[in-house]
Amino acid sequence: MSYAIPPAPIPAVPVAGSTDKFPVHRIYCVGRNYAAHAREMGSDPDREPPFFFCKPADAVVPVAQNDTTDVAYPPETANYHHEVELVVAIGKGGRNISSGNANDHVWGYAAGFDMTRRDLQFALRDKGRPWELGKAFDQSAPITPIVPAELSGHPSSGRVWLAVNGKTRQEGNLSDLIWSVPETIAHLSKYFELQPGDLIFTGTPEGVGAVIMGDLLTGGVEGVGELSIRIV
Ligand code: MN
Repeated sequence: MSYAIPPAPIPAVPVAGSTDKFPVHRIYCVGRNYAAHAREMGSDPDREPPFFFCKPADAVVPVAQNDTTDVAYPPETANYHHEVELVVAIGKGGRNISSGNANDHVWGYAAGFDMTRRDLQFALRDKGRPWELGKAFDQSAPITPIVPAELSGHPSSGRVWLAVNGKTRQEGNLSDLIWSVPETIAHLSKYFELQPGDLIFTGTPEGVGAVIMGDLLTGGVEGVGELSIRIV
């Protein structure tokens, strides 16, 4: 058997402190998982069930530590936003995972940016249409190397922050997640069979905003990693 066309490369993210790479299967994202961000998006932050959307696996942009990676300003938007998030890397798949067992399925953690064409997202949202054009575009998921959980532990608190050109824009804490990582895994695995290689972007704290060509974005999650990108 041979493929009719050459298969696409497997998207992968470096593992911190190793030459290994973590192969990415799917990217799941949680919407509105911090109360103050839900409010700034015009929603009631009461604890309604989490909701999810996806990005393609090849949206990842691996960003090495102590480096700045160029990310292209995407087409067809005039309101390109940053969202800094804790990212969970799944090492062991499963369905209907209980929150009590969820950490056993986590291979590691990273910090990532859920880059968003906010104008397109809102236009689609307001018409009840899918969010792909606003969320699932090329290079929309810059990410740090993945830190194995055996090194990082399973963080339930820690600063989550992002600065643009050195000025802080987002400042939150994992302890303020509406749905914790184990609860998020429990919900998500009711709808999808999680697979090794899945990434979960867990939602962003308040302070999202627009960036323009030339901006330098730095951000991270305490105890997990920091990344730096320039919009070109
Ligand atoms: Mn997000």
